[in-house]
Amino acid sequence: MSRWGDGENAADIVQQQRDFFCTGVTKDVAFRVAQLRTLKRAIAEHQSDIVDALKRDLNKPEFEAYGTELIVFREIDYAIKHIKSWTKPKPAQIPIEQFPARAKIYPEPLGVVLIIGAWNYPFQLMISPSVGAIAAGNCAVLKPSELAPHTSHLVADIVQKHFNPAYITVIEGDVETSQQILGQKFDHIFFTGSEPIGKIVMAAAAKNLTPVTLELGGKSPCIVDADINIEYTARRIAWGKFLNAGQTCLAPDYLLVNRAVKKELLNSLKKHIREFYGDHPATSPDYARIINQKHFNRLVGLLQAGEMITGGETDAASCYIAPTIIDRVSWEEPVMQEEIFGPILPVVEYAEITEAIATVNARPKPLTLYFFSRNQKLQERVLQETSSGSITINDTIMQAIVPSLPFGGVGNSGIGSYHGKASFDTFSHHKSVLKKSFLFDPNIRYAPYKGKLPLLKRIFGLN
Ligand code: NAD
Repeated sequence: MSRWGDGENAADIVQQQRDFFCTGVTKDVAFRVAQLRTLKRAIAEHQSDIVDALKRDLNKPEFEAYGTELIVFREIDYAIKHIKSWTKPKPAQIPIEQFPARAKIYPEPLGVVLIIGAWNYPFQLMISPSVGAIAAGNCAVLKPSELAPHTSHLVADIVQKHFNPAYITVIEGDVETSQQILGQKFDHIFFTGSEPIGKIVMAAAAKNLTPVTLELGGKSPCIVDADINIEYTARRIAWGKFLNAGQTCLAPDYLLVNRAVKKELLNSLKKHIREFYGDHPATSPDYARIINQKHFNRLVGLLQAGEMITGGETDAASCYIAPTIIDRVSWEEPVMQEEIFGPILPVVEYAEITEAIATVNARPKPLTLYFFSRNQKLQERVLQETSSGSITINDTIMQAIVPSLPFGGVGNSGIGSYHGKASFDTFSHHKSVLKKSFLFDPNIRYAPYKGKLPLLKRIFGLN
C-alpha cells in the first residue's frame, strides 16, 4: 500500500501510477464504470464518518454536509449515465479536398493527474474532480487541505481502503508536502484554492509544461435591483451567504443594492437570519464555525468597517462569528479589498444599474455574479455587460449543482472548468484523427506546382 509517510516519496508514488497507467487498464470504459461504482459504494458506506469529519472540521451541519458535500453522489451517477457517449469518438466534418476520408475526435485520458483541494468543502473538492479524472481514464494523486484534518484523514482512509494506490492515492500534508508533490511531473494539475497559491501552482506546472485547471475565488458581487420579490431575494441571499458560515467560494461577497429597496431588503435579511439561526446563532445546530484561529482573526479584523446592521458577535474559543451585515462601507476598507470568505456581508448602494455594472467591471472578473430582478431587459444588460465565471439570476449558489453547467472562473477567478461533461473534458485530451483511403490520390498538392495554383485558389475561394 503506498501512502505518504510509509517511507515512499512523491516521485515513487507518481512513478507507480505512471507504470499502472501504461498497462492500459484505465482506458477500458468498463473499468472506469466499475471504479465509479466503487467510489459510490465507498461514500454510501462512510456517509456518517464523512458527516462526522465535517462536523469536527467546520461544525458543518449534517444537512449542509449532505446538501453540499455528499451531493457528489449525484455527480458520480451523472458520469456513469453519460460515460458511454462521452468516451465515444465524435465524427468531424472534412473539407472536400480530403475526400475520400473520415475525421473523428477521440477522447483519451491524460495520464497521471494531481488534484489539490481547499478546506471549505474538503470532501467534495477532492471527490468531485476525482469523478472526472476516473471517468476520463486517468490515475490520480489527491492532496486534500491540511486545514480540515479530519476530512483529509478520512478521504485518505476511504481511498486507501477502496482503491489500488497505483491507480488512486491520497498524499496528506501541508504546504511543504504540496510543494514536494508539485515538483513531480503530472499530466494535469487540478487546483482549488486561493489566487496567490494558484499562481504558485501554475508556476510549478509551467516547469513541466503541465496544463492546469485553477478553481479560484475572489469577490463575487450580488446586485439587487428594485423590481424584486423582497422576501425570496433576502432569503436566497442570506442562505447563500451564511451557508458554511460564509466560507464558500461562490458566496455573495458583497451586496450592490438599489437605493430604493435597500432599507426593506436589509430588514428582510435580518428577519431571515433570525428565522434560520434564531436569536442566538451561536447556539444554532445549523450554523458552521470558522475553520481556524488564523481565519477567525482575519475576519474579526474585517468587522472594523462601516455601520453594523446585524451580527458582529464573536467568540474566539469556538471560532464563532455571527451572521453579520455591514452597511456604508468604503472601497478603501479591507472588507472591500479582499475576498471575505466568512459570514460578513457588506452593503454598497447604487442609484442606476449602469453604476452597479461599472462597479463590477472596475474590478477583477469574479467567480460568479448574482443579479436579482424581474426586469428581463436589465437581466440581459447585466449578462451582456459584465464578465464572470457564471451568473445566477434570482438565486445564489444553485448554478454549481446543475451538472450540465460547467463550473469555473474567468480571469483572476480561474482557468478551466469542471462538473458533469466539463469534468470529463478537463481530464481528457481530444485527439484529432484523420483516416485517408487508398482509393485515389489527386496530384494537385505535389510538385511540380506549375499550372496548379489557379485550382488551389478556386478551392480556397480566393479568385
Ligand atoms: P489555499 O490556496 O491556501 O490552499 C489550497 C491548497 O493549496 C491546500 O491544499 C494547501 O495545502 C495548498 N497550498 C497552500 N499553500 C501552498 C504553497 N505555497 N504551495 C503549494 N501548495 C500550497 O486556499 P484555501 O485557503 O484552502 O481555500 C480558500 C480559497 O479557495 C478561497 O480563495 C476560495 O474562494 C477558493 N475556493 C475556490 C473554489 C472554486 O471552486 N472556485 C472552491 C473552494 C474554495
